[in-house]
Amino acid sequence: MSNRPIYLDCHATTPVDERVLAAMLPYFIEKFGNPASINHVYGWEAEAAVKQTREILAAAINATPEEIIFTSGATEANNLAIKGIAEAYFPQGQHIITVATEHKAILDPCKYLKTLGFEITILPVKQDGLIDLTQLEQAFRPDTILVSVMAANNEIGVLQPIAEIGEMCRDRNIIFHTDAAQAIGKIPLDVQAMNIDIMSLTAHKVYGPKGIGALYVRRRNPRVQLAPQQHGGGHERGMRSGTLYTPQIVGFGKAVEIALAEQATETERLTQLRQSLWTQLSQLEGIHLNGHPTQRLAGNLSISVEGVDGAALSLGLQPVMAVSSGSACSSAVTAPSYVLTALGHSEQLAYASIRFGIGRFNTAEEIDIVAKSAIATIQSLRKQRTLVHKR
Ligand SMILES: *Cc1c(COP(=O)(O)O)cnc(C)c1O
Repeated sequence: MSNRPIYLDCHATTPVDERVLAAMLPYFIEKFGNPASINHVYGWEAEAAVKQTREILAAAINATPEEIIFTSGATEANNLAIKGIAEAYFPQGQHIITVATEHKAILDPCKYLKTLGFEITILPVKQDGLIDLTQLEQAFRPDTILVSVMAANNEIGVLQPIAEIGEMCRDRNIIFHTDAAQAIGKIPLDVQAMNIDIMSLTAHKVYGPKGIGALYVRRRNPRVQLAPQQHGGGHERGMRSGTLYTPQIVGFGKAVEIALAEQATETERLTQLRQSLWTQLSQLEGIHLNGHPTQRLAGNLSISVEGVDGAALSLGLQPVMAVSSGSACSSAVTAPSYVLTALGHSEQLAYASIRFGIGRFNTAEEIDIVAKSAIATIQSLRKQRTLVHKR
């Protein structure tokens, strides 16, 4: 383990916390029942475990347990939200508003809906990654049925003004969806105070298992209608059929419970680690911080680097640190990140970028090693480049 690179890619995924794994284990072999089995104790104990996670998630976001629909993750939750609302509300209108820096699991369902005749407005972002609320105001139309704006960005960590957006949508009776995959357990979320009508969650960004997520769907004031996208046994109040994955659900609940209990202290600790990393890296010339300096996730540092090739930078960092050079979902292709391009960066800057995702298990010593190594790599690449140019 010790000579593997230091893991700093917590926006892509996080390891399962040992406490989470311990909570999950009994539900694989001993308490393996189907939560939908109502005639025996095997079913009852599984159902009780599922109910407990529903209660934990509901309490975490100020919702009620019946408003939590389990899914396989945030990708499925986003698809269910966007397509499910489009299908349920199209008699009222076919216009949807979203943002250029959203995750592909929002942008691609919207693109698909466009082929069915829906009209999509994709708002740009300002140079700091935040949307301009005046532009949102101007984008509203009488036939707008849905606004989808993410709570925290997976690449540059910026936190959109969710409460303000929620209020604007509520004033106009437009459904407000937010993708909170990066936000749950990291920043306070309150569906009442923020006027959120529907919200996507996932466990694996917050030290829970992969393959489990949830969709919060508001039941009153207003009651959100949702057309199911997966039909079958009528699980999850008919909105998402399929046998519930009890061990993963138990892990999800435990992960959120731990994250909430530790949120305040962990936010402070991560902010210090990020500050330390930024203070060291920004001693170099030509290093740019991507995204708003303070309105961002504590563990996120996204930088663009002048005067180096993106692929060479990525290769140079690899032995020491596991970081991402774009969004994890598209970093297999060497194209500039669409999120950074949306900030108005030139392609060169957008391409030579590093996303550090600092998490629960990173230490101050690791951050110092990473900072020194990144600085050395950047300096060496710049030097090579100057030599080549002089020749
Ligand atoms: C990771 C992520 C997703 C996808 O979540 P999965 O649970 O992996 O499907 C969606 N949106 C955002 C913002 C994410 O960070």
